[in-house]
Amino acid sequence: MDKLFIADEKDVRDGYTMDVYFERTKKILESCGMSKTEVCAEITGSSLPRKWEWAVFCGLEEVMRLVEGLPISISAVPEGTIFRTRTADSVRVPLMNIFGAYADFGIMETAMLGMLCQPSGIATAAARTKIAAKNKTVLAFGNRRMHPAISGVLDRSSYIGGCDGVSSKIGGDIIGQEPIGTVPHTLMLLMGSNDAAFKAFDRVIEKEVPRIMLIDTFSDERAAALEACRSIKDLKGVRLDTPGSRRGNYKELINEVRWELDMNGHKDVDIIVSGGLDEVSISEIVDSGASGFGVGTSISNAPTLDLSMDIVEKDGNPISKRGKFGGRKHTYRCPQCFQMGVSLKSDDRIMCSCGCEMEAIETEIIRNGKRVGKERTPSQIRDYVLKQLNTIGEL
Ligand SMILES: [Zn+2]
Repeated sequence: MDKLFIADEKDVRDGYTMDVYFERTKKILESCGMSKTEVCAEITGSSLPRKWEWAVFCGLEEVMRLVEGLPISISAVPEGTIFRTRTADSVRVPLMNIFGAYADFGIMETAMLGMLCQPSGIATAAARTKIAAKNKTVLAFGNRRMHPAISGVLDRSSYIGGCDGVSSKIGGDIIGQEPIGTVPHTLMLLMGSNDAAFKAFDRVIEKEVPRIMLIDTFSDERAAALEACRSIKDLKGVRLDTPGSRRGNYKELINEVRWELDMNGHKDVDIIVSGGLDEVSISEIVDSGASGFGVGTSISNAPTLDLSMDIVEKDGNPISKRGKFGGRKHTYRCPQCFQMGVSLKSDDRIMCSCGCEMEAIETEIIRNGKRVGKERTPSQIRDYVLKQLNTIGEL
C-alpha cells in the first residue's frame, strides 16, 4: 500500500520532521569545531492567542520521552501549570530551560516546540470549556476534525485541560481510562427506528459500557427520550445533538426533555448535549437540565501557542537576540493569583503585587539525559490543573 503522509516515531526522533535549517546549523557548528559549545536555551511565550490571560502548560511528558538519552539537562515548570507568558514588568517567563551543547539538541527544537505549543493550546481550550460548563461533565469529541495521526495527543491534552472523558481508543489507552462514546445517527438510520437501534445496542454491547442514547434522529426529542427509557432498562443518559436548524431555543428544549424525564420517573437519566458547542454556547445553556456536554472542534481546533526557544547563555555568559532577555532565569509564581516572576537566582524572594510571596516553580526533570523523579500520570496532571482553576476562583 502507498505510504500515508504522516511521520512515524522514528521520523520524529531522527529529525526527519525538523525544519531543515537546524540540520544545516549543526553541520556548520561541527565543521567550525563548535559542536561542544555549551548553552542554556529557554522556552518562552510572547503573548497568548485570543487575548487569553493564562494558559495550561501541556506536552512536557512527550518532550521528556523525546529527549531522554541526549547528553543534556532540563529544568521546567511542571506539566499542567497554569502560567502567564510575562511577568508584571513584561519579562518573558521561561517554561523550560535546556542545558547542553546546542549541537546535541538543536535538531529537536521543531519537535519539542510542536509537542508543547499545540497541546498547551488544546489543554487551555479544554480548561476554559470546563469553566464555562461550571464543572459539569465535558467530553472531548473533537478527533474527527483533526488528522488521525495526532488523536492520542489531542485526547491527552483535552483530558489534562479538564475534560472528563475522551472518545478515541488510543486516547483512552494514553490517559488510562475507557474511551467514551454513545451511538452515531448512522445506527438508527440503518436499523430503521430508535427502538430497534436502542435494543440492539443494549443486547450487543458489553454491560460495563454506559447506555447513552441519541434522541434526535427521527422524532421529537421529548418523545424519543421516553422511548429510550422504555427500550433500555439501565439507561444512563440521553444525548441531544439537535441540528442548529431545528434547535429553536436549545436551553428550553433541554429543560423540556429534563421535565419530561423527571415527570415520568427518570430523574437519574442524564442529558448530554453536543453539536458545535464552544465555551460561549455552553455558558448560554449551562444552567439548564443538561448534566454534560460533548465538545468537538472548539477544543481540538484550539489555537496553538506561540512558544519559542532562544539561547540565553553561551559558555556560562548571558547572551540573547534583540527582543529577548539574556541570562539563565528561574521561574516563580504567586500561589494566589498566578502572577509570574523571574530571577537570576534560584532562592530569591519575590513579592507579588497581591501581597503574597511567589514560589519557585521550576524543577529539574532531566539530568544528563536521565529522567529525574517519577512520571506523573495524565490523571495526576489533570487533578493539578483543576486544583489551580479552583485556586484562581474559576471553578
Ligand atoms: Zn499574587
